[in-house]
Amino acid sequence: MKLTFLGTGTSFGVPQIGCGCEVCRSPDPRDRRTRVGAVVETDGGTRLLLDTPPELRLQLIACGIDNVDAVFFTHAHADHIHGIDDLRAITVRRAGPLPMYGSEGTLQHLAQRFPYIFDGSMRPLPGTSKPEGDARIIRDGEAVTIGDATVTAIAVPHGPFNVFAYRVGPLAYVTDAKSIPDSAARTLRGARVLVINALWRADHPTHLSIPEAIEVAGRIGADRTFLTHLTHDNRHADLEAELPRGISPAFDGLTVRID
Ligand SMILES: [Zn+2]
Ligand SMILES: [Zn+2]
Ligand SMILES: [Zn+2]
Repeated sequence: MKLTFLGTGTSFGVPQIGCGCEVCRSPDPRDRRTRVGAVVETDGGTRLLLDTPPELRLQLIACGIDNVDAVFFTHAHADHIHGIDDLRAITVRRAGPLPMYGSEGTLQHLAQRFPYIFDGSMRPLPGTSKPEGDARIIRDGEAVTIGDATVTAIAVPHGPFNVFAYRVGPLAYVTDAKSIPDSAARTLRGARVLVINALWRADHPTHLSIPEAIEVAGRIGADRTFLTHLTHDNRHADLEAELPRGISPAFDGLTVRID
């Protein structure tokens, strides 16, 4: 299995508009972070897209990914969904609409904000096209199979509501979590690779902080843990040097082989 980090930045992205801090001016390409998304590719060639961040088109081009078999949404915050229109380039080459999974609430938000993608009765004018989505509800604890991939949804708190983490075989992908309840930790345990969000060094009301993410990594016990949803608070090289063994900051375009 191969994991590709499309984007690893917090909702502002890094560099942040109007900021002249050291990290936002860093010449290190790993300090340029687009909004959070990832692609998982199985050995059988099944490709799953996790979220559709605002820079989706640029991310897929940069990573050389021209097709996916399904999309799994973690939640409906703008930084995770506002690139959904870029899926048109993929759906125009498909026989049918692209399966898009998420919680009932997430799919309701998507249908309200992007009705033209999900309403089959809204047809594009002759000679034009639109993205075609097939909304499919997945519930907490439920597993669905796409090709040779089995994906399990796991609800985790993101402040006042839950988002979905996803377990795909040896991979556990958790973004925008504020905490990991024991029930969720049980489903995440046994993963070889854990991706976990980490925002500030100080506490944040809706996200794990870096010290909290390190604590979660210890509880899950994956061989390798990658931090994502990072801010301009940390220069990549400095964070990499100070994290405990087995934990690294992810960066845009990073690919991880998981056997
Ligand atoms: Zn900055
Ligand atoms: Zn969020
Ligand atoms: Zn987010």
